Amino acid sequence: MAHIVRLFLDQPLAAGQMLSLDRDHAHRLFSVMRLAPGDEVRVFNADDGEWRAHVAKAGKRAGELHVEGQLSVPKTVPDVWLCFAPIKRDRTDFIVEKAAELGVRRIQPILTEFTNSERVRLDRLATHVIAAVEQCGGTFVPEVSAPTKLADLLHSWPKERRVMFCDEAASEGGLPDIAGPWAIFVGPEGGFSEVERAALAKLGHTVSLGPRILRADTAAVAALTLWQSKLGDWA
Ligand code: SAH
Repeated sequence: MAHIVRLFLDQPLAAGQMLSLDRDHAHRLFSVMRLAPGDEVRVFNADDGEWRAHVAKAGKRAGELHVEGQLSVPKTVPDVWLCFAPIKRDRTDFIVEKAAELGVRRIQPILTEFTNSERVRLDRLATHVIAAVEQCGGTFVPEVSAPTKLADLLHSWPKERRVMFCDEAASEGGLPDIAGPWAIFVGPEGGFSEVERAALAKLGHTVSLGPRILRADTAAVAALTLWQSKLGDWA
């Protein structure tokens, strides 16, 4: 059977509803994927879960879907944030894509002393996140927040949210077995500065990701894997 397209639609989904497609969605479904009236698609969002729908009208710039039955109720993801310093563009894309697949509530780019990136394109990152969620079967789309200076973020840190500080200089340090909201911090290619390391260590739990120094994108995936397997929804 052909692969059925999953589409994130940020509009209310309910049985019997007609959904209007914007230009981008119409282009993707009808010009790229060559779907025609009557073809099945799946639509989802965080509030309404996932629904079966059929193409009712297919045009070049617009189209309509008819929503039928619900396939699944909304699936949440664990309350963990990924706070990372943006790196080169394709590696930053990789980090947000993997974070969305592994399951995070929020993706927070941080500007650190040694952040070595060009500017972050939030719309681009959001598009990658949506594509990853469409692909991996989830219904929750993590928020990509505007880049924030690390010092500002830590200054108003919500104290109930625990911090997992990934530190390549930590000789040991496991993730403590404490449930609740968490945030993972991964530094840029140059690492966190001494001042930043001290602030993060004071605020949270210093965690080692093994004896080798990982690249920031690898560290983000490893940290999320560790967190999810110990405290997340695949624990
Ligand atoms: N400053 C380092 C490299 C930083 S690696 C150097 O050049 O020597 C980028 C980020 O990945 C670090 O800031 C850290 O958050 C994370 N990281 C990399 N390897 C790690 C490890 N073994 N344990 C924990 N965190 C690690």
